[in-house]
Amino acid sequence: MIAGWDQERLAKATILVAGAGALGNEVLKNLALLGIGNLLIVDFDRVEISNLSRSVLFNECDIGRPKATTAARALERLSPEIRVRAIDGDLETDLGLGGIRECDLVLGCVDSIYARWALNRACQKAGKPWINAGINASVGEISLYVPGQGACYECGMTQQMWRQIHERRSCMLMSRRLPAATIPATTVIASMTAALQVNEALACLHGRSRLQSGEMVMVSLSPYSLSTCTMDAREDCLAHEDYSPSFFIDATPAEITGAELLGRIPGATSLQMDFDVLEGWLCSNCGPQFTVGRLSTTSASQIECPQCKAQRVPQLTHEISQSDRLANCSLEQLGIPARSILRLKTVSRTCYVELLTAKDAKEAKIAR
Ligand SMILES: [Zn+2]
Ligand SMILES: [Zn+2]
Repeated sequence: MIAGWDQERLAKATILVAGAGALGNEVLKNLALLGIGNLLIVDFDRVEISNLSRSVLFNECDIGRPKATTAARALERLSPEIRVRAIDGDLETDLGLGGIRECDLVLGCVDSIYARWALNRACQKAGKPWINAGINASVGEISLYVPGQGACYECGMTQQMWRQIHERRSCMLMSRRLPAATIPATTVIASMTAALQVNEALACLHGRSRLQSGEMVMVSLSPYSLSTCTMDAREDCLAHEDYSPSFFIDATPAEITGAELLGRIPGATSLQMDFDVLEGWLCSNCGPQFTVGRLSTTSASQIECPQCKAQRVPQLTHEISQSDRLANCSLEQLGIPARSILRLKTVSRTCYVELLTAKDAKEAKIAR
């Protein structure tokens, strides 16, 4: 009965929710009750007792269980007609860009600047609008970012935010999941901010958002206020690359090597990675030692040389051409997740290739 409301549009929509903490719980509950047809939840955390006072989807029996799958089960009970998929994993290493490309919208309910930065990069590459949200004890904020239209999250980053990212990145090298920072907040601010974020999601799905890309809405409870501000786009922002695929390869990362991939794309000369690939170690006593893997998922204990116990230096690469040793490794060994969109250099230009199996395409209802 609401003017302009299109329930069918909502039932057809696919929304990715990154983070199933206090904000994510409220956001997911709202989306499920509103009848958003397809939800994809990504979170690598486990439910802890301290989460229970602000997480409508978790109870005491869930302590120790993955947040993503636990939230998915609760949502299915709440709203049995919707389809919920959960990834108990990391946004950067476990979800390919193709998985973002099939969504209509992404909602960021993450709790660190690093996670927001990484999500922004992924959404820019996948060409998908995303709505960021953040809370503290008495203030909540949401902001909309639409690739190709005005400012992105990275455009608005300050020097202090960059410092936090560099610190986090250097801790993350070879030690994956850092415990999330604890933010003092109550379910009151979480539910208010989630309501704003979901309201904006509804506006976007109905094609009548009033926010510009880079515009932020802030709600404060003490003193009460609601205000907006807009960030300017930066011409030299490094996040604005669009990874729209022009080729599709019907293979999982385990089924194809870098050399095979390059061989399938006319004129391709190299595969360019947007993360650090570990290709070996240099031990000052024993010399070079070969390996392969994604640096951020390599255990820190690997630094020690297995022969002489000295500290080794990691040898990193970002580019793999036909003649490289790593070209004979599968894409999975290189640390590339399923449904990735890969950047390839050809003799004349850069092109993007998505790994999309027939099964993936069917599940995601994507026409190739
Ligand atoms: Zn930007
Ligand atoms: Zn050694």
